[in-house]
Amino acid sequence: MFNYCPICASKKISFKDGIVFNCPDCDFVYYHNIAAATGCLIIVPEAGRKESDKKTDRIVFLVRGKEPAIGKLDLPGGFVDIGEGVIEGLYRELQEELGWTPPETPSLFASFSNVYEYKGIKYNTCDMYFSVIAPSLKPDDLRIEEAEITGVRFLKPEEIDFSQLAFSSTVNAVKKYLT
Ligand SMILES: [Zn+2]
Repeated sequence: MFNYCPICASKKISFKDGIVFNCPDCDFVYYHNIAAATGCLIIVPEAGRKESDKKTDRIVFLVRGKEPAIGKLDLPGGFVDIGEGVIEGLYRELQEELGWTPPETPSLFASFSNVYEYKGIKYNTCDMYFSVIAPSLKPDDLRIEEAEITGVRFLKPEEIDFSQLAFSSTVNAVKKYLT
């Protein structure tokens, strides 16, 4: 990833196991650690239903408006910022992407590793997936972040084309939720 040590400009810098940079000339060490990220399944029960039913509930997907995976479907969420807890990061992303605050605290139900490639750099992430029931939520209730998202889809399980989901961890999370 780097041809020269950023401290002493030595060309002997090494990058071991995709994790640690080391320069033998000045003893520079840098760990390229995983990043924490969140995803949220917003579950919308069928109109008139009091209880959630995974066969008929709709799941809210975003249409990605930028790379990577532009045009593909994604769950709301994103990287946890410096200084944030994971729930705090999720609430911030839901507010930024959808202008929406969940009616109750989303519950963690799965976590998967993922690789997020941006401009040639691979970021290894630990994706944490939450679910929350949002009775009577409608597309018009959401105020989407137009620079990042081009639309929302409320899909029943039978309508989900898994080849159209942006990331393998999203596929894993949705399948895990539905089983
Ligand atoms: Zn150095």
